[in-house]
Amino acid sequence: MPNLNPEVTKFLSHQPLPMYIGGRWTAAATAAAFETRDPGTGAVLARVAAGEAADVDAAVAAAQVAFQKSGWATLPANDRAVILHRLADLITRHQAILAEIESLDVGKPRGQAAAFDVPHAAQTFRYYADLAVHTRRREPIALSGFEARTVRLPYGVCGFIFPWNFPFLLVGWGVAPALAAGNTVVIKPAEDTPLSTLYFAKLAEEAGIPPGVVNVVTGFGDTAGAALARHPGLKRMSFTGSPEVGRLIAEACGRNLVPVKLELGGKGAAVIFQDVDVAVVAEALAAAVTLNAGQVCCTATRWLVHEDIRDEFVDKVTATLGAMKIGYGANPATNLGPVVSAKQRARVLGYLDKGVQAGAKVLLAGGPAAVPGYEHGYYVKPALLTGDPGNLCAREEIFGPVAYLMTFNDEALAVELVNRSAYGLANSVWSRDLDRANRVAEKLVAGNGWINAHNLFTHGLPYGGCNLSGCGGGVLGPETLADYLRNQTVARPLA
Ligand code: ADP
Repeated sequence: MPNLNPEVTKFLSHQPLPMYIGGRWTAAATAAAFETRDPGTGAVLARVAAGEAADVDAAVAAAQVAFQKSGWATLPANDRAVILHRLADLITRHQAILAEIESLDVGKPRGQAAAFDVPHAAQTFRYYADLAVHTRRREPIALSGFEARTVRLPYGVCGFIFPWNFPFLLVGWGVAPALAAGNTVVIKPAEDTPLSTLYFAKLAEEAGIPPGVVNVVTGFGDTAGAALARHPGLKRMSFTGSPEVGRLIAEACGRNLVPVKLELGGKGAAVIFQDVDVAVVAEALAAAVTLNAGQVCCTATRWLVHEDIRDEFVDKVTATLGAMKIGYGANPATNLGPVVSAKQRARVLGYLDKGVQAGAKVLLAGGPAAVPGYEHGYYVKPALLTGDPGNLCAREEIFGPVAYLMTFNDEALAVELVNRSAYGLANSVWSRDLDRANRVAEKLVAGNGWINAHNLFTHGLPYGGCNLSGCGGGVLGPETLADYLRNQTVARPLA
């Protein structure tokens, strides 16, 4: 292992790392543990408690008690906001440590985790803390013959299952609105990347969030995850991950009539018109498809390029992708780290093989990347394919640094090609003609349409998907806070 911050060494030293349930650090009921690996070296990073159904039961029970008795749910919003701002302060103060943990566990460049993932999560807590203070909890309803109002109250225990691509940032996106509204939470992080969520629980404890309000159960999807999704004690559920698992979660929640938010995959398109500065767009899309080693559900992986600029674009983008510095996340020169696991690397490489067998042409060959000194890490080179829009690499989510290029010569054709996707998360339009860009952005069916940029995440701009990309209202917007407040009317007939 590289030289670690002493605080990170200390955090990793109590193995297996315990879960956080009801304000206590606890082993799994079965005492079982699993390993999480450093994707950059392939070595075991830590052993972590493998929670199962009994641990999920304990966590939900603790969250129920905390909802009823800790005072969190009934605290005035401004008092809760003080605590959530304190949590954000602690996240900021521990930014270097959290970025190091995230980089070790996910493989992402440490600088990116420090510049984006961690501060963005801190900001999410601040945004929802402030929004909650300014959200009306009582709205009079003007009715003749009645005195009536709507009261907005937290639901109770909310379950969260997160994936491995942005573990810390997504905890913020998910739980900040739920906590700001006064709910209690049970979090199941991905088995590949549980570490920063455990550190989050430590900071939540330090911030003064009462015991049982935040609970973390580490473990596998088909045990801990499934037990959480089907738990009858939940009042809301939120899942971020693949459509396949999202469907299982929705089915389980459906049986209990628990409302569910799903943030699923994507196959984002970038539509590039002939009036752009080709070098600028090539640079931006090369950065987008290699961000987090391409493990970003909304990133641009289908590039629709106007045929007039196709050759120039391909020359520039392949040069930029070919020059990426692939390496270990802690190395400051690295801008493309490994993918998260051997399984994920096999998936990416498998797609390249299958896509080519199905007729795709290679514009930039991907494949395993050799990084001297890190021979057992899960590194892959960026790849660019082209060919028929029906190719599986043009249709399915690969979740690696792989783009698929197609050409068009007519706006309507570009729109039609983008909208063939079964997904609907995010697309971008690139043009100097802003009338055209705005027109096309509205025609592309997805939760998010971006103009002359891709991967825009900002608090107050709702982010979510439609179709296979998800349902249930999305995240990051003011509406997300409302998702965690249930409405109750109170009415009295006037005599
Ligand atoms: P990936 O296949 O890329 O790992 P998943 O959608 O399978 O993505 O995983 C996202 C999250 O869902 C992880 O926390 C994982 O443990 C969890 N998960 C996987 N399978 C299930 C399941 N059957 N029920 C509940 N959660 C699951």
